[in-house]
Amino acid sequence: MTIFKKIIEGELPADVVFEDEHCLAFRDVNPQAPVHILVIPKKEIKSLADSKTADQELLGHLLAKCAQVARQLDLESQGYRVVTNTGRDGGQSVEHLHFHILGGRSLSWPPG
Ligand code: AMP
Repeated sequence: MTIFKKIIEGELPADVVFEDEHCLAFRDVNPQAPVHILVIPKKEIKSLADSKTADQELLGHLLAKCAQVARQLDLESQGYRVVTNTGRDGGQSVEHLHFHILGGRSLSWPPG
């Protein structure tokens, strides 16, 4: 079972900032910006690459919730970044789809 599945099941604690029937948003334990939130589906999908056509509505929901959470945390006026690391070269370390919301400072581009 992945760390994120354990958080969904309530077996591991998390600093939850938003939850609905489809997703959970919580603070990253190793923040890379003053605000660093992870938005994950409750459905077990390994990565964006592993998502199916049937997941399209869920993927849209997750992105919409990223925007909602960013607004809730006052990131909208200054801006923020949403990113999903995918696979080895993408730097993915947890095999459960997640969107990072990063904000609260000026973010450089391109990423390393
Ligand atoms: P990625 O490297 O894109 O797969 O992102 C995984 C993220 O999960 C990293 O930013 C970690 O800091 C974060 N993370 C790992 N374990 C936990 C946890 N128990 N609670 C919150 N965030 C976590």
